[in-house]
Amino acid sequence: MSDNELNPFAIAQRQFDEAAEVIGLDPAMRAFLREPMRELHVTLPVRMDDGSVKVFKGFRVQYNDARGPTKGGIRFHPDETIDTVRALAAWMTWKTAVVDIPLGGAKGGIICNPKEMSQAELERLSRAYIRQVGRIIGLEKDVPAPDVYTNPQIMAWMMDEYSFLKGYNEFGVITGKPLELGGSAGRGDATARGGMYTIREAAKVLGIETKGATMAIQGFGNAGQYAALLGEELLGCKIVAVSDSRGGIYNPDGFDAKALVDHKLKTGKVGGFPGAKEISNAELLELDVDILVPAALENVITKENAPRIKAKISAELANGPTTPEADKILHENGVYVIPDFLCNAGGVTVSYFEMVQNAYDYYWDEATVHERLDKKMTAAFHAVHERAEELKVHNRLAAYAVAVERVAKAVRLRGWV
Ligand code: GLU
Repeated sequence: MSDNELNPFAIAQRQFDEAAEVIGLDPAMRAFLREPMRELHVTLPVRMDDGSVKVFKGFRVQYNDARGPTKGGIRFHPDETIDTVRALAAWMTWKTAVVDIPLGGAKGGIICNPKEMSQAELERLSRAYIRQVGRIIGLEKDVPAPDVYTNPQIMAWMMDEYSFLKGYNEFGVITGKPLELGGSAGRGDATARGGMYTIREAAKVLGIETKGATMAIQGFGNAGQYAALLGEELLGCKIVAVSDSRGGIYNPDGFDAKALVDHKLKTGKVGGFPGAKEISNAELLELDVDILVPAALENVITKENAPRIKAKISAELANGPTTPEADKILHENGVYVIPDFLCNAGGVTVSYFEMVQNAYDYYWDEATVHERLDKKMTAAFHAVHERAEELKVHNRLAAYAVAVERVAKAVRLRGWV
């Protein structure tokens, strides 16, 4: 595969171009929406524990704010690139539009390996990032959140640094915070929970019984772990395989999700779980299961392995797990894909609830968050499903059609294009 075939931003633009064609978007709107509006590149000197200074590179891309302040997570990853952040910022724009919350899309990233850094080093890096990016974020401008290898503690440091810059507490500048610092009930498992609601709705339209259905989960971070727990609890699924960056495990009789998560938290990996057969990430994706949940990184389902995917539903909790070539193959083979920016929109939806609660300084109980999340995800799922039937296209293209039309309408009403 050529580099461009796997460049996430080239992929995001190809997906967009295809959607623009299907919905007949005019040339100026196409030219505008296929590029980010703004981006900031930062260089961060950070004092390491041994006294040396290491210089990190970071980014913040504000893709489009026609529908409201931009919103999106910050990733800490050794393979981060500006093009990955651009793609993720574009997907955030379509994500907030598809669930119809009044926000735009953004993303941030720092090239670093958090697994090799101490807590003190991570804190200094997080604060250094905000000292630079602080000038372009804010309640009414751009609101970050957690993503790959960032967590509520990191959000707390970032909120604290921003509050120092401002001279007053600004909880709402960032979401995914700990509960004690203005976090929302239900934010921790929101991405996976939202995904489970979309699987429930997909199963209904496909006539699949989720109780006893087999589920394989690729990736066992925040989204993957909660997918196992909630797949069991909310849908009655049997979790037969899970994997992380070091490999996977399989048991056709099903795992106890809670025991799996405890094992991962204790040992740092899923491998070595008692009574399980060790398998690779590649093998996991091709298992004969009812529901496949890619919950790790980009480009894991490509034209090479797509013909061998046997799942009935692929529920994308990860961002960008499927390439455009693979999308076509899955569609032809009857695999029902719940596309990433629909399936994993639960995280940003509860982030939006967190912003609302911060603004009012009045906090909702967990049941209220779940009920409101369910309503948003269910409505978004059916808008996309109906659009796919109407346009006779695969679900990702239908999700783009719904989202891009909403953003384009806002852009037009503002008189930008
Ligand atoms: N990082 C998450 C995502 O990709 C959540 C973003 C947010 O809450 O702003 O959707």
